Amino acid sequence: MGKLKVSIKATLENVTDLRPVGDDFNWMFKLQCGSCREEHPNWVGIDATETREISGSRGEANFVWRCTLCKREHSINFDSSLDRSKAVYTAEQSEEQKFAAIAVLECRGCEITAFDPKGIWSCKGTESGTKFEEVELSLEEPDGWTDYDEKSNEPVSVMEFESKIERA
Ligand SMILES: [Zn+2]
Repeated sequence: MGKLKVSIKATLENVTDLRPVGDDFNWMFKLQCGSCREEHPNWVGIDATETREISGSRGEANFVWRCTLCKREHSINFDSSLDRSKAVYTAEQSEEQKFAAIAVLECRGCEITAFDPKGIWSCKGTESGTKFEEVELSLEEPDGWTDYDEKSNEPVSVMEFESKIERA
């Protein structure tokens, strides 16, 4: 509970600045209830541009979850302490096999336990600057993404994607 940060690591070949596309990227998470420890049965999608009402006029949040077991209501909000529009995973970080934070979320009453990168990401050629705007990643596709940079005549890829959730 509290603020959690989502950090990623991947092996980038001839590309840099990997990031999810759009402020309305649908972030797929696994959640766990902070009260009874029940896991949400499904992956849930959280979109920073969406708001849902918290019951009892307690305002709005990007995501609201009522635990089916203990019936408590929890909420999650993207936190502005990390500017997602500037957060990218770079070739340098990849070379050093470092994790880098790409989002911070404030979780009230629950925790995020896993992240699935499922969706469209973008990156660009490290030397060529060629833009790749349709980088599909997913836990279901552990082989990652591969393409070819026509400008630099080099293969490009995003492999070995990993993520971790930690206190921010
Ligand atoms: Zn619960």
